Amino acid sequence: MNATLVLTLLLGGACVGSFINVVVWRLPREESVVWPGSHCPHCGHHVRWHDNLPVLGWMILRGRCRDCHQPIAVRYPLVEALTAGVWLSAGWAIGLDAPSAGGLSAILSLGTGVVLASLLLPLVLIDIDHLWLPEPLCRTGVILGWLATALMVASTALPTSTLLHHLIAAAAGLVILESLSALAERLVGQPALGLGDAKLAAMAGAWLGLAGLGMAMGIAVMTGALFGSIGRISGRLKPKQPFPFGPFIALGIWLVWLTGPQWWWQHWLNFLSV
Ligand SMILES: [Zn+2]
Repeated sequence: MNATLVLTLLLGGACVGSFINVVVWRLPREESVVWPGSHCPHCGHHVRWHDNLPVLGWMILRGRCRDCHQPIAVRYPLVEALTAGVWLSAGWAIGLDAPSAGGLSAILSLGTGVVLASLLLPLVLIDIDHLWLPEPLCRTGVILGWLATALMVASTALPTSTLLHHLIAAAAGLVILESLSALAERLVGQPALGLGDAKLAAMAGAWLGLAGLGMAMGIAVMTGALFGSIGRISGRLKPKQPFPFGPFIALGIWLVWLTGPQWWWQHWLNFLSV
């Protein structure tokens, strides 16, 4: 195993996770994500650089502000650790030894993977907090997905038509989910899917193509339905209480990105034939 790569992914992921915390807090509040620097929401004191280290800072402070001693949510170090873990999973998917052995395309694939992860995580967290998938993040995700495809076409044997294929998949994701949303609204009489979900599906198409989009949405529907059923049965979700669907689409996108749609399809068929 390539220890340097593991360490790079963990440290890089934790630092980006720290920035994701800032984005998730400030973007819905229409605050700048770059200025001013991190400060305590209770006393307004500037956070010192050594207290701002991902995960470690929170542990050194034992979860309290150095100045006013108000608690700092445990979610901050958790998001940093989660981001590090998701980045590491991208390395695992490429094969942790491969970037040295696999050359340019493996490095590009890993690089675009961590970009995708770092876009999905803030979308998931903002959707959980606010039932909202911010348009600028989704739009950036679609554009970067198509650019990532272009990079892979330029560096591997993928045919040039892949570019058009992923463009069509992005449009298909948007149109299909918007139609489903309109249909569900007629049947149920209340909005079942948000407009943001359609934009996230467009992102799935741009990154994964048509087969990947289908598989990602399949995983999203299954895991979302499972979560909703357990929530309603256990009484933690009220009968008509909405819950965000974005996290399940993001999960589907990430799982398909890690292994490719065929892997999931094959295992699904095996599962059905047991
Ligand atoms: Zn404070």
